[in-house]
Amino acid sequence: MSGKNATETLYADAAGIARAARIIRDGGIVAVPTETVYGLAARADSDAAVARIYAAKGRPEFNPLIVHVGSMQQAAALAEFSDVADSVARRLWPGPLTLVLPRKANADLAAAVSAGLPTVALRMPAHPVMRALIDEVGLPLAAPSANRSNAISPTAAVHVSTTLDGRIDLILDGGACESGLESTILAIRHDGSCEILRPGPIGWDDLPDLVRAKPTAARVEAPGQLAKHYSPGKPLRLAATAADADEFLIGFGPVKGHFSLSASGDLAEAAGLTYAALHEAAASPLPRIAVAPIPEEGIGIAINDRLRRAAA
Ligand code: AMP
Ligand code: MG
Repeated sequence: MSGKNATETLYADAAGIARAARIIRDGGIVAVPTETVYGLAARADSDAAVARIYAAKGRPEFNPLIVHVGSMQQAAALAEFSDVADSVARRLWPGPLTLVLPRKANADLAAAVSAGLPTVALRMPAHPVMRALIDEVGLPLAAPSANRSNAISPTAAVHVSTTLDGRIDLILDGGACESGLESTILAIRHDGSCEILRPGPIGWDDLPDLVRAKPTAARVEAPGQLAKHYSPGKPLRLAATAADADEFLIGFGPVKGHFSLSASGDLAEAAGLTYAALHEAAASPLPRIAVAPIPEEGIGIAINDRLRRAAA
């Protein structure tokens, strides 16, 4: 542990994961890498442990948490899987897709996880560290992004300490998150009708035909999806092709900028670097941020969704 940090950071090797699992079993909260962003994990069955997540993040209690599972068996104990839900999960899990499903009446979950809703959000992560941690704890883990509420999501261990140092029990450092944006959230109702509540790495076209045949008009509630979110704490200007003198420019493709999301215009690369760029822009002495235009296609839809909320 380095002297200036209050929260210890450990490499996410076997010893680090074993230590994190002990802390979580005892009701603690640990930041852990996933393929999307770093999560702040606690046992999902404990009211006290889940309350610590809300307190550390300063998260409003109406904003529910995603529960991370290691197996279909764990998932099936928590939520009702319709045939549509089952086929989506089997096709796209493990991966960056969260399913909002009817919560089972006898699910062993802290009430605060669902923030009073009759549903629960479930994800089976692909990242080997998160998977090993769930295995070792032996329980589903509630894990929102490991940042103070409204702050920029973390895609590296150092981003976690920027806002949560001293407020959580441990940070597991597993390097940079590959996908770099929060999971796609898909709600699937009892009748099999579906709606994307948050765009993310899994796009509409990646979903099975079964889902695309069942889009809905009626909105499902997605509390916490606020227009303003992921704030860098500075004004942010979108679709900029050049920087003003006082702006930190985040570039893409032909727009070079102070930090390029992808010089070649690769949207997957840009998604992976979006939060790192916002963290760097936030830390820069320049008082304003500008971002180059990002094409509204594929994962560009999710990048623009996060950038619009950061600019709001
Ligand atoms: P985060 O963990 O910060 O990525 O946020 C998770 C998001 O998932 C929340 O902000 C909600 O919008 C969404 N969510 C979680 N549980 C539910 C649920 N039961 N119904 C609808 N949306 C949910
Ligand atoms: Mg978050």
